[in-house]
Amino acid sequence: MALKKYQYNRILREYDDIRFQNKYELDNRIKEAFEAIPKLKELEDKLISLSAQSGRLALFGNTKALDELKENTASIREQQRQLLLDHGYPEDYLQMQYKCIKCKDTGFIDNEKCNCFKQAIADMIYEGSNIKSVLDRENFRTFSFKYYSDDYIDESIGLSPLSNMQKIVASCKSFIRHFDKKHDNLLFLGNTGVGKTFLANCIAKELLDRGYTVIYLTAFRLFDILEKYKFSKEAENSIIAANQFEFILDCDMLIIDDLGTELSNSFTTSQLYLIINERLLRQKSTLISTNLSLDNLNTNYSERIYSRIISNYNIRRIVGEDIRLYKAVGEK
Ligand SMILES: [Zn+2]
Repeated sequence: MALKKYQYNRILREYDDIRFQNKYELDNRIKEAFEAIPKLKELEDKLISLSAQSGRLALFGNTKALDELKENTASIREQQRQLLLDHGYPEDYLQMQYKCIKCKDTGFIDNEKCNCFKQAIADMIYEGSNIKSVLDRENFRTFSFKYYSDDYIDESIGLSPLSNMQKIVASCKSFIRHFDKKHDNLLFLGNTGVGKTFLANCIAKELLDRGYTVIYLTAFRLFDILEKYKFSKEAENSIIAANQFEFILDCDMLIIDDLGTELSNSFTTSQLYLIINERLLRQKSTLISTNLSLDNLNTNYSERIYSRIISNYNIRRIVGEDIRLYKAVGEK
């Protein structure tokens, strides 16, 4: 991925800031805990003097004494842990807390870019379109079944909107749990306002929290990027678009929201096929949401797109009222 040097440096600086912040927060926790539990500080002073001794002993190759020191150190750490718990603190209160445990907020694991670094690149490339701020509001914790009625059976699926949605949410959670092994794909069908985007965001949030790279694009924006990639005459724009295109093919999860709202033509159709097919080959998961029916997908795009979707995607039809109307009039 050809990132510009200044972009690369900007991401590295962000990691510096995160590590600085981690250290700052740790120092504050230590200060606070030592004031609340003076015995912790005494034990910490002991540890410091032990580690000075161990340095000297190591120099003289005194392994027996070194082993003893190790035991003492472990026992002091255990006493500290117990003290914290007794006073209602978490046991790791005096340890560094990382945003990404895998790379300890360095961005790298054995000189390879950590997934969090790849996501940082993706976020930078898709600046303005990324969904992180939305995900604070739209996730499984804020998801509510109250908008789905249990009062009638929807004939197209033979279930009430509520029972249907309960099943779908359960299957989405299973999709997330098995994300690593199964490389499943999802197609959300349903009218405007039944919660397709909200549910897609719930999934995006869970996967991002688990360290996967996720790109969310409306179909409109997706094809806009693809056109720039294909037709842009300016070198600068086409480099950016080439980076974006590579991420579209290679991110762990691609969400294409609102398929069918873009201006479709032979270009969009061929590009959509390329993306769907290439991601299947690479065993990368894709989620597509659309207001279109399956029949319309077939007629608006192409037989081969339709058949790829039918045979490789789990199809979930969401039914119900337009939630945005409920919210607008303040009901429920
Ligand atoms: Zn990481």
